Amino acid sequence: MTRVDAIIIGAGQAGPSLARRLSAAGMTVAFIERKLFGGTCVNTGCMPTKTLVASAYAAHLAGRSADFGIELSAPPRIDITRVMARAHTVTLNARSGVERSLRELKNCTVFQGHAAFESPDTVRVADERLTSPRIFINVGGRANVPPLPGVDTVRYLTNSTLLEIDHVPRHLVVVGGSYIGLEFGQMFRRFGSEVTIVEMSPRLISREDEDVSAAVRTILENEGIHVRTSAECIRLASHANGVAVSVDCTSGPPEAIGSDVLLAVGRRPNTDDLGLDKAGIATDARGYITVDEGLATNVPGIWALGDCNGRGAFTHTAYNDYEIVAANLLDGESRKVSDRVSGYALYIDPPLGRVGMTESQARATGRPLLISTRPMTRVGRAVEKGETQGFMKAIVDAETHRILGASILGTGGDEAIHAVLNIVSAGVPYEVLQRAVPIHPTVSELLPTLLGDLKPV
Ligand SMILES: Cc1cc2nc3c(=O)[nH]c(=O)nc-3n(C[C@H](O)[C@H](O)[C@H](O)COP(=O)(O)OP(=O)(O)OC[C@H]3O[C@@H](n4cnc5c(N)ncnc54)[C@H](O)[C@@H]3O)c2cc1C
Repeated sequence: MTRVDAIIIGAGQAGPSLARRLSAAGMTVAFIERKLFGGTCVNTGCMPTKTLVASAYAAHLAGRSADFGIELSAPPRIDITRVMARAHTVTLNARSGVERSLRELKNCTVFQGHAAFESPDTVRVADERLTSPRIFINVGGRANVPPLPGVDTVRYLTNSTLLEIDHVPRHLVVVGGSYIGLEFGQMFRRFGSEVTIVEMSPRLISREDEDVSAAVRTILENEGIHVRTSAECIRLASHANGVAVSVDCTSGPPEAIGSDVLLAVGRRPNTDDLGLDKAGIATDARGYITVDEGLATNVPGIWALGDCNGRGAFTHTAYNDYEIVAANLLDGESRKVSDRVSGYALYIDPPLGRVGMTESQARATGRPLLISTRPMTRVGRAVEKGETQGFMKAIVDAETHRILGASILGTGGDEAIHAVLNIVSAGVPYEVLQRAVPIHPTVSELLPTLLGDLKPV
């Protein structure tokens, strides 16, 4: 039995930074990772996908070169091997960096293998038994594979295995019209695949407002992506040409025949094989570890950070979990997860930057609202770049003048949204942003104008 001051399970987005802080505070740390250092974001999530999104953007822009007065001597050709190699290089560099930094960390011993609890203060990894008064769980999640009829009879791809392919699928059927599915769908369309997106709900990204989801659908359909919504009875079956995905029980062509099918239907936490019962750690019905405002579990001395606690589903939320735990444990603060302002982006092109509530969530509060929208056709920077799809929208509480939420679907939307995110985080009225003097020409410079057009609803 090895005794340490802290055990960290999982080298995702919270664990490595926490190890550095604990080590700097003089604690001995046992760090356990069962597979790839850097976790989902580095290996099968944000980093490879955003690298591929960049290649897809380059391909798209090359195809539009004549719009910018540039004539190419031949149509652009996708070298998928080099496209994938570029993503793998970015990932590998980041993964090795995380692993090296942990292995070189003072006071820290790295164990490679699957960790499981044996008791509230003991964890087993391979032949080692580790014990500590402080255990931090950062085990993340994996692609959810729902029990769709026929799913066991076909070869399907997930976000992980799609990153290993060496060819452009002839026809990629994406099951799941949410964030991950849309990013992969548009990317492979731009690499040359025929793409069909199949979504059970009546609309894509159904957590967003209807106007946002309709505009996203138009953007994708403008590129020739087939979108099938309200596909309530999805079934999978082998077909001479690949996989047949039955998409609709009531109307439209009954099935989409794909050469490849990607399942992008949500994530599930890696908590089912962690021996949580041996430690008495509580989870919710979907397996997410229950935590309090400081991310402590129901068992004293055990915390859960990142996607596995169900309080966030992003790299920045996992990292913020680390900041909360470290500040409370080492700096005497009492930071809370509920203080976090929700912000995220959907990396289709143009991207969607989001902060706070949707319009429908804001309306459901019953508060008096002010709302303003502006099409990207009326944003100078977008016009100059020749990228005018999308719109921006702000929702403000009419009494407090606080911004409740905003969406920027348009070129640079993933960056410009931070002006709003910062104002919301600062907890100041919208006029503070309205009176700033933004740089011209930017997408952000239209935010004060957007706020100047607020109307009661
Ligand atoms: C395709 C895709 C694209 C994404 N794009 C974005 C994006 O653009 N922006 C964004 O913010 N988020 C994005 N995400 C989400 C983001 O990747 C996750 O929210 C983030 O990685 C969560 O970090 P984490 O630290 O909670 O866990 P993870 O990064 O999943 O890390 C968990 C680690 O724990 C290890 N582990 C699990 N169980 C055990 C065990 N029993 N013993 C030892 N080790 C274990 C795993 O091997 C893994 O290394 C994307 C996700 C996907 C799938």
